Amino acid sequence: MPVYKAPVDDTLFILNDVLGFERYNNLAGFSDASSDIIEAVLQEGGKFAEEVLFPLNQVGDREGCERLPDGQVKTPTGFKQAFEQYREGGWLGLAADPEYGGQGLPYALHTAVGEFMSSANMALMMYPGLTQGAIAAIQVHGSDEQKQAYLPKMIEGTWTGTMNLTEPHCGTDLGMLRTKAVPKGDGSYKISGQKIFISAGEHDMAENIVHLVLARIEGAPEGTKGISLFIVPKFKLNAAGEPGEKNGVSCGSIEEKMGIHGNSTCVMNYDEAEGYLVGTENRGLNAMFVMMNEARLAVGLQGHAIAEVAYQNAANYARERIQGRALSGAKAPEKKADPIIVHPDVRRTLMTIRAFNEAGRALLLWTALKSDIAHRSDDEKEKQAADDVLGLMTPIIKGVLTDKGFDHAVAAQQMYGGHGYIEEWGMSQFVRDARIAMIYEGANGIQALDLVGRKLGLNGGRAVMAFFKEVEDFCAENRENEKLSFFTKHLKKGLGDLQASTMWFMQNAMAKPDNAGAGSTDYMHLFGLVALGYMWAQMAKAASEKLAAGANGQSTYLENKLITAKFYMEKVMPETALRRARIETGADSMMELAAEAF
Ligand SMILES: Cc1cc2nc3c(=O)[nH]c(=O)nc-3n(C[C@H](O)[C@H](O)[C@H](O)COP(=O)(O)OP(=O)(O)OC[C@H]3O[C@@H](n4cnc5c(N)ncnc54)[C@H](O)[C@@H]3O)c2cc1C
Repeated sequence: MPVYKAPVDDTLFILNDVLGFERYNNLAGFSDASSDIIEAVLQEGGKFAEEVLFPLNQVGDREGCERLPDGQVKTPTGFKQAFEQYREGGWLGLAADPEYGGQGLPYALHTAVGEFMSSANMALMMYPGLTQGAIAAIQVHGSDEQKQAYLPKMIEGTWTGTMNLTEPHCGTDLGMLRTKAVPKGDGSYKISGQKIFISAGEHDMAENIVHLVLARIEGAPEGTKGISLFIVPKFKLNAAGEPGEKNGVSCGSIEEKMGIHGNSTCVMNYDEAEGYLVGTENRGLNAMFVMMNEARLAVGLQGHAIAEVAYQNAANYARERIQGRALSGAKAPEKKADPIIVHPDVRRTLMTIRAFNEAGRALLLWTALKSDIAHRSDDEKEKQAADDVLGLMTPIIKGVLTDKGFDHAVAAQQMYGGHGYIEEWGMSQFVRDARIAMIYEGANGIQALDLVGRKLGLNGGRAVMAFFKEVEDFCAENRENEKLSFFTKHLKKGLGDLQASTMWFMQNAMAKPDNAGAGSTDYMHLFGLVALGYMWAQMAKAASEKLAAGANGQSTYLENKLITAKFYMEKVMPETALRRARIETGADSMMELAAEAF
């Protein structure tokens, strides 16, 4: 049976010692998040993840969702009750706006708890996950009336939300979408069309489902400039604001898929369903981007979360499974063989996953804190700088942490040999569940293009230049420190490869855009390596300082941090040179072959 333990201590180290959470007391909601509260919330969230969500993970995988003849969808055994407990615990509204019933606590805290819960049961957590995105879109672009009508129930978790973009013929290229909106003359619209792959599209866990739907108003321009966003509730609201008459939206079928079986992925049919415009006509994609950006970070978190639970199981197994003897002589002579954790190649695998996971957690929390600053600070300059980091890091977190999430779920599965291929151990589910995170919310190739094609040049490269300067300053400030110079040396080298590759794009991609497309995935990973390296350098600094100050009973934990930091710098960071070399050879050998030759 698989196991899971929420990494509460590591999260506390990052929030308190690396990010210095108490310094942000001036931000709204942060003064309510004293270190005691933070610890209590993490402990409670961890316990809920371990004891309620995780035991249902394999159940959800085995049973999947079922569409009943009347179009209702039944979720796996126990999901409804677990979601009820989640709702009662107020988890959905942890960081939501108090004006609509949220608790207003930091988004970084919500992210930390979100990791535990997604590790424990990614499929179940997608129901509230999609709701969070819908809340964000309504909050930013909805009218006051819409906010009052929908947000309190969604923040409470009584109603859930969905995101309806994809159609059979259009996924990445939303400009081709055909779902139609016809004005009814009373301010509402008749929405008709078919959406596919809609996560949490229909289920039995909420009283109402608030679909956010992209559609084209009759006569609107072709392409992305003619798309609008609509709220289409499953049940229309009656005069009292409660779910009333059933709307013209239904689940046609649920997809049979590779993983996340516990989440209902639906074909949704809209037959003149009543919809209400969100924001301005033809600016729907802009409004949906609020939801997509939120969702991209959440999907990056999923990749990381699955790598964490897969790692924990692989590490346990490697300590227990005995096969072969250590190259340096028997380590368990009383046994017939040594545990496989003695073998360097097993160590290489486990250390690699661990090094990415711990830095991934720091990157997610660092970025979530930037989101808090961007949304809650009163200082315009600070807000803008934080928003720049958030925008820059979104495709990196989505693309890198989900590519690595899948790679590392496979690597963890490999630790089990043949047993990893057998369903009972749970490793196969982690691999299958992790795979989707690379695809949805914009396939990872598209994240790489967003980074290179849009984010790099935005505002004259302001975000990327600020990031380079921050890392350079860190290296300069700490290079004379004998405990840190090792880390800053490797970080500086990686940063050099990143800066050179950025310059190469500037010189070679304008005239020949294929050079940018050809190098984009390498660049996204190169950026990820440096960003994660920066997290490691900061964690090494915090760990060294805490050790020097007496370690507070955590000396083994802190020394292990430094060992893992060293591993990252020696064994992972050198990949920046490889990525740079690939980028600088451009598109030629990639584009030469005629299409028929493939
Ligand atoms: C389980 C599941 C859940 C989902 N949940 C939702 C949901 O809740 N709501 C929703 O609206 N959608 C959802 N989706 C849809 C998902 O977001 C899309 O599948 C995804 O955006 C890709 O679209 P596509 O499948 O049409 O692939 P395509 O757009 O056909 O892309 C195919 C491949 O071509 C590449 N490609 C395409 N265009 C370019 C380009 N210009 N440059 C470089 N490469 C390119 C892509 O990266 C991809 O690898 C879900 C999908 C699945 C499988």
